[in-house]
Amino acid sequence: MSQARALYRVQEFELAVIERTKRIKEIKTLLEDNDIVQEAQQDFDLTQASLEDASKAFKDIELQIEAVVTKQKATESRLYSGNVKNPKELQDMQNEVESLNRRRETLDDKLLEAMVARDDAQATFDEAQATLQEITTDWEAEHQDLLDEKQTLTVEAEKLMQDRKAAVKVVEPSAMKIYNSLRTSKANRPVAQVEGKTCTACGIEQNNTIIGVLNQGNSLVYCQNCGRILVR
Ligand SMILES: [Zn+2]
Repeated sequence: MSQARALYRVQEFELAVIERTKRIKEIKTLLEDNDIVQEAQQDFDLTQASLEDASKAFKDIELQIEAVVTKQKATESRLYSGNVKNPKELQDMQNEVESLNRRRETLDDKLLEAMVARDDAQATFDEAQATLQEITTDWEAEHQDLLDEKQTLTVEAEKLMQDRKAAVKVVEPSAMKIYNSLRTSKANRPVAQVEGKTCTACGIEQNNTIIGVLNQGNSLVYCQNCGRILVR
């Protein structure tokens, strides 16, 4: 195998590792981002608080009605017991029963309004709960897929690193030194394939001298334009 070909194999393994490392980094960012779940949780918390308020308001009115009914019954019981003879006192009691009746009617209206408000709050809460559950389930499923993908990529990257190590062994130290010196400036692609007479990295046709040296395959030859190590 020519040194250029050996370097090209090293480059292929390195690019495959870089690709996987990049995706692993992306996945780590995705796993940290659960804003959508947090937003749904906040919505749920708000609707839950509203529902509690509405339920409490309804319950309060129920208790007020209960108190009015109790008082009304007690007054009526005294009124019709026959024990009270004083006309003034009887009239007062009669007035009180009527006043309690009016109070109860008002409370009944309020109770109806409170019931509608509570039912609305319940419906909003149910919706927020369903949304939260759906988003959480989706996120966890996606989370699991991403974890699985990350695991697979990590194993692949380790294997590719081993392959690279083996590929480096057949490269002469001097050639490796040149390759390493070009790696940064050539964006991790110091080696370029030639198709016909053209460098596939920059698209420039090479002169016959370069092509002649390349075809002999004995020494490293560089693209006359981009300076990359050329390989067939
Ligand atoms: Zn080139």
